[in-house]
Amino acid sequence: MKILVVDDSKVIRQLVAECLKEMGHAVSYAENGSEALQYVGDQDVDLILMDVEMPLLSGFEATKAIRELKKADWFPIIFFTMHDDDESFVNGILAGGDAYLPKPLNPTRLRLTVIAMERIYVMRQKLQTTQRELQAANRELERLSLRDQLTGLGNRRHFDSNLAMQFALSRRNKAPLSLIICDIDHFKKYNDTLGHPQGDGCLIAVAKVLTEQLERSSDLICRYGGEEFVAILPDTALQDALKLAENIRRQVFEKNIVYGDTETQCVSLSLGVATYVGQYRTALEMLEAADAALYKAKQSGRNRVEFN
Ligand code: GH3
Ligand code: MG
Ligand code: MG
Ligand code: MG
Repeated sequence: MKILVVDDSKVIRQLVAECLKEMGHAVSYAENGSEALQYVGDQDVDLILMDVEMPLLSGFEATKAIRELKKADWFPIIFFTMHDDDESFVNGILAGGDAYLPKPLNPTRLRLTVIAMERIYVMRQKLQTTQRELQAANRELERLSLRDQLTGLGNRRHFDSNLAMQFALSRRNKAPLSLIICDIDHFKKYNDTLGHPQGDGCLIAVAKVLTEQLERSSDLICRYGGEEFVAILPDTALQDALKLAENIRRQVFEKNIVYGDTETQCVSLSLGVATYVGQYRTALEMLEAADAALYKAKQSGRNRVEFN
């Protein structure tokens, strides 16, 4: 451990240091409470051994200040003092100390107390490491729970919560919010012709086009269901959303992903766009409007963009 020894007496500092070094610890010194406080502010410490009676800042005062300074951090503090009565002991513990050794110091007691404190310190370190690992694992789980495994896009769950949030924001800020729903045309035929694994590859290719076309950090693209994708575009007016949807349609079509018996059968998208400018009462109403536009695109021949 990195141990700080705080005592105004050089003799005691040396005596304690000798004992600690024998135990294999690294020792630093401070001559009074304010030096100790400064040291703790600048350097890492695992344990402090501190005299109570010191000029400038007493051991108790210094300990209170150290505990305040290092609120998020904890390491044991052991006091030594001439005053071996109950009241001093209580004051020491209340000041934030963890153990109490009477002067003159007994080297065996000193050694054993350091060993006991080290045990607590190590346990706390382990707990903190476990906590950090757990937090990281939770963050990763949270991230995974919002992702679609196949395409890496957001999943339905992510879409639902983000749409609710963006709808509320848009209403409050009176900013337009656009939705684009895309559905791959005749995808069943694609799967039937080339097989499911190839179909998965096609979904990944379409997801890539969407990601390339919608690159604003505020945009969220999700896989809504099987071969349906949906993009939430905050601060985006209808005209801009239509342009983006048309670009997506063209990019996918021009990839010329052929699957039919004839060269002309290649993957295309139908897209429905809706933009909220205060007219919908709920996010669901807006979603239904985009879906109705998609239906219109399918009805009027597919491979096209419609809006509501
Ligand atoms: P439409 O143009 O009207 O949208 O016709 P469609 O064939 O695309 O629509 P339909 O809903 O009849 O079929 C969707 C197909 O999408 C059926 C299903 O096999 C396929 N599909 C859904 N999820 C996946 C998936 O994860 N991987 C693959 N390969 N195919 C999927
Ligand atoms: Mg002293
Ligand atoms: Mg569909
Ligand atoms: Mg389809």
